[in-house]
Amino acid sequence: MNKPMIKILVVEDDAADFMLVKQSLLKSDRNQYNVQHISEYNAASEALYQDDCDLILLDYFLGSHSGLELLQQAKTLQFKRPIIVMTGSNSPELDDMLMKEGAADFIPKDELSTALLDRSIRHAIERKEAEFKIAELVRKDPLTGLGNRYIFEEHMELAIARAARKKQHLAVIFLDLDRFKDINDSLGHHVGDLLLTLMGDRLRRAVRKSDFVARIGGDEFTALIDNIENVEEVNHILEKISREMCRPAPVSNTTLDVTVSMGVAIFPHHGQMAMELMQKADMALYESKAQGAGGYHIFTDRLQARLIHGLETEKELRHALRLQQFELFYQPQIDLDTGAICGLEALIRWNRSDGQVMSPIEFIPVAVRSGLIVPIGCWVIEAACKQLQLWREAGLNVPVSVNVSPRQLKFHGFLKQLLNCIKQYRVPPGMLELELTEEALIENGLNQAAMLGVIRNTGVGIAIDDFGTGYSSMRYLREFPLDRIKIDKSFVSEAGITGLREPAITQSILSLAQGLGLSVVAEGVETNEQKQQLQSQGCRVCQGYLYYRPLKLADLEPVLRQAGGISSNDRHS
Ligand code: C2E
Ligand code: CA
Ligand code: CA
Repeated sequence: MNKPMIKILVVEDDAADFMLVKQSLLKSDRNQYNVQHISEYNAASEALYQDDCDLILLDYFLGSHSGLELLQQAKTLQFKRPIIVMTGSNSPELDDMLMKEGAADFIPKDELSTALLDRSIRHAIERKEAEFKIAELVRKDPLTGLGNRYIFEEHMELAIARAARKKQHLAVIFLDLDRFKDINDSLGHHVGDLLLTLMGDRLRRAVRKSDFVARIGGDEFTALIDNIENVEEVNHILEKISREMCRPAPVSNTTLDVTVSMGVAIFPHHGQMAMELMQKADMALYESKAQGAGGYHIFTDRLQARLIHGLETEKELRHALRLQQFELFYQPQIDLDTGAICGLEALIRWNRSDGQVMSPIEFIPVAVRSGLIVPIGCWVIEAACKQLQLWREAGLNVPVSVNVSPRQLKFHGFLKQLLNCIKQYRVPPGMLELELTEEALIENGLNQAAMLGVIRNTGVGIAIDDFGTGYSSMRYLREFPLDRIKIDKSFVSEAGITGLREPAITQSILSLAQGLGLSVVAEGVETNEQKQQLQSQGCRVCQGYLYYRPLKLADLEPVLRQAGGISSNDRHS
């Protein structure tokens, strides 16, 4: 019978002890051993990187080092092979500690025998293999069979350690299918899944066998490319991936034309740490998408500057929360039938310490990325509810809409905070509305629908903001409990034109809303002509510079009082 060849690395600083071990191993008739010898700690530590054996037999005493140190290092590096420790002294405490640090087994030197070694080695290898099989299963993305985010990060740590030692470069690629959501929504999840599997397969084929590929989110893939010589090589690889993945994709009964966008960060140029490199590759991907579908972008100095600016802004935003530098402006919404103000949209402003007023367009994205949108969003809701109470006490009853970002909605404490505010400031039904983007609805699917149901039962309205700019899927309009649609300003106005920018789109949104029994507000109305066209298309509520810009409280209140007649129409009627 052919005995399996097992490669054993013996780490032993005592030459006589090594000979003893070697002889015991070579006497085996169960296994066939290839025995290598390392006599000092540094070389052993190097061997952990090489990963060129099936098992390590480690002497506990190694000159000025102990076997424990090596075990710990192996743990950090996630060394894949079992390590059996040979101990000189007979100490149960030591044995316990060794097992805790990941030793596969321990063998007292004075009990060393061929039979004992054979058994211990075979068990250790089998156990380790089983351990890995389970770990692999847990870490694999079940759909594509690729690694998942967790294992990708792990691989990156290792690859970085290796590249740093060998002074090599490493490319981290983030890749995302363009318009995947459209495909998923229009052709169904089944087709979406098939496409993801196919794409995962193509990506894996496009890179070398030794490169690591993972799926880290819905349609987001990553690849880790080792041993990069120069930027040309990276470009070459990106082009190859792109060519491979953008071929027509036969799935189910159709053929899809798919494009992918990619972002890249390179070790060590763009960072030393896995997290940092992943963040930068992700930023580069984002940039690539912003420049249009189907391209790629390598992290640049410009992005670095933006990143640093973002980090500074983030720091300042934290202060801003504490120093109460936020303020709500309110933009009136006009009932076209009566000309009266029938609602207000609360829009946040940041009064910075240097006297500048910062627009939400600049800081909301930073707040979202850093998670600060959660406390900032809480502040917005509370401020609006407080204001509603003050106005009511002064005899002014006008509904307020607040913007809620998807990230905020995902925060598990969101509902509780909202309900608390409604209770504390006794917000009557119909006086508060949340403006959510389509993205917010889609991201959390049906869980969200249930939560929105709860919210609506308390009398808080739900509007879809920027309607038509996102993944607008008609399905969502039916599945989610909604009250209003806000027609995005990009369909209404544009500098230099006086009529409606996209009359066909505004018309179809209005018809759609009517069919579904939803009310509509058109945003960004800047000219009389736009207002008249919208009105003739059946729109009843407008918001825009034609009427008012967002106003600070001091400017708004006289307007509200003077208007006196706040439309008594419930705007959701
Ligand atoms: P949005 O929700 O689409 O808000 C409407 C934006 O259009 C506002 O910009 C408003 O000033 C502007 N606008 C109003 N009328 C016109 C018009 O006639 N023409 C044009 N061209 N623009 C008009 P603003 O205040 O700079 O806010 C920008 C965005 O920041 C908002 O877009 C919203 O997405 C976000 N935002 C504002 N406040 C908050 C907030 O409290 N929380 C969250 N999460 N986001 C907010
Ligand atoms: Ca809005
Ligand atoms: Ca909007």
